[in-house]
Amino acid sequence: MRCLRRAIFVATGLWCIGGGALAQSPVTRHVRYSHAGRVAYGVLEGETIHELDGDLFAAPRPTGRTVRLADVRLLPPVQPSKVIAVGLNYRSHLGERPVPAYPGLFAKLPSSLIGPGENIVIPADSRDLHYEGELVVVIAKTARNISVAEAPQYIFGVTAGNDVSEREWQQADLQWLRAKASDTFGPIGPAIATGLNYNDLLVQTRLNGDLRQSERTRDLIFDVPALVSYVSRYITLLPGDVIYTGTPGTTAALKPGDVVEVEIEGVGLLRNHVVAAARSP
Ligand code: MG
Repeated sequence: MRCLRRAIFVATGLWCIGGGALAQSPVTRHVRYSHAGRVAYGVLEGETIHELDGDLFAAPRPTGRTVRLADVRLLPPVQPSKVIAVGLNYRSHLGERPVPAYPGLFAKLPSSLIGPGENIVIPADSRDLHYEGELVVVIAKTARNISVAEAPQYIFGVTAGNDVSEREWQQADLQWLRAKASDTFGPIGPAIATGLNYNDLLVQTRLNGDLRQSERTRDLIFDVPALVSYVSRYITLLPGDVIYTGTPGTTAALKPGDVVEVEIEGVGLLRNHVVAAARSP
C-alpha cells in the first residue's frame, strides 16, 4: 500500500509513515452499553452500535443487531479485575519534584469506575477534589513479566479516564486508597479504541468548557509499552485490566455543578458532571 492513498487511509483509520510503509490497522471503537434491560458490547460506527456476542477479549462475533447510540446508556467500557495507575508521568505535572527513576504505581478500585454521563460525587468531608485527564490502557490478554518489546501485543486498546483525586487526603492518609479509589473517582470511556498509535495522542481536559490540560502522549516520561512491561513485573495483568497513565500539566478543584470533559483523539469525549454527596452518614 502506498501513501498516494493517504487520504483514504486517514479516513478509514489507517495511516502512512515515511515513504510508504503502513503501520496501523483500522481504528475500531468498542463500547459497552445498556439497552432495553440488556448489557452488551458493541462496535461504534458513527451514531450506530453494532452489537457483539460474548466477551470483548475472546473474539466476540457480531450478532447482526444494531442500535442507535442515542438510544443506549453507555457504561464503563470494561470491567477490570484491577485498576492500576501511574503518578508523575509528565514533566509538565512534576512542578518542583524530580523526574522519577521508575513509574510510581498506585491502585484505584474497580468499584470507583463510572461511565460517561455518570456523576462524580464529592464526598461530604472532601475539600480539595481535583480532575486528572489521562490516557488509559486496556489489557488484551494475561501479561506476566513481559518485556517492553512484547508489551504491544498485550495491549487491547486505549480509552480516556479521569483519575479523580482528593489532594488533602493524598497528603494526610497512610496510603492513597481513599484519595484515589473512592466511589465515582474513576470516570472511564466512552469507547475503547483499537488500532490507534497510543504513543502520540492528544489528551485534553476541559472544565466547564475551558481547556485546562492539553498534551500529547509522546511526552509521557514512561510510555505505554514501558508501563505495561513494568507493571507486569510485579502484578499479573488480566484481560480487561486497565492502567491510568498519568496526567499532564496542572489540575484544579472541582465543585458541585462543574462539568469535566476528557477528550482523546480517536477515542472520543468522556463527560461527567460533579455533584455533592447527599449527606454524611
Ligand atoms: Mg493520575
